[in-house]
Amino acid sequence: MEKTKGKKRKSALVRSSIGAYAVQCEACLKWRLIDTEEEYEEIRCRFIEEPFVCSKKADVSCEDPTDIEYDATRTWAADRPNVPKTPKGFQRDLVLRKDFSKMDAYYITPTGKKVRALSEIAAYLSSNPDCKDLSPSDFNFTVPKIMADTIPAHIERKVSTSGSNKKRKKSGKGDE
Ligand SMILES: [Zn+2]
Repeated sequence: MEKTKGKKRKSALVRSSIGAYAVQCEACLKWRLIDTEEEYEEIRCRFIEEPFVCSKKADVSCEDPTDIEYDATRTWAADRPNVPKTPKGFQRDLVLRKDFSKMDAYYITPTGKKVRALSEIAAYLSSNPDCKDLSPSDFNFTVPKIMADTIPAHIERKVSTSGSNKKRKKSGKGDE
């Protein structure tokens, strides 16, 4: 099933470029695939307060084999924890650059406008009364970090690998 990329640590990947979302169990360290972006966002937005454990998935326990292995068969990106859940009506997309150097984040507003910066979000909110309950803090342009050790070999050398190793351990969802 999958896709091409994953994100690491609790990972996720980008929608346009993301093939699968996975989070790591705090107890057994196995990776569990999360079916939808919405579910993934729910977990991510409270990840610090409520670390993920296998039992949060229906009919799954730490005794079950891992859903997916963290390895270079796909490229992983480590997401940051506690990124706010995408406000209703908006869509948050992450796109992996072709050279695998990084991801770019943007939102699509309810009116179909593509927004790439917080200042544009602020301007959009202030000119759209329907969004009066939202504030710029409900949006976040933080992008997951591409895990250098999972970048395809033919591109790997263009990217600095510094700092990638340490992150590999625990937690999933993102943080860094
Ligand atoms: Zn577990």
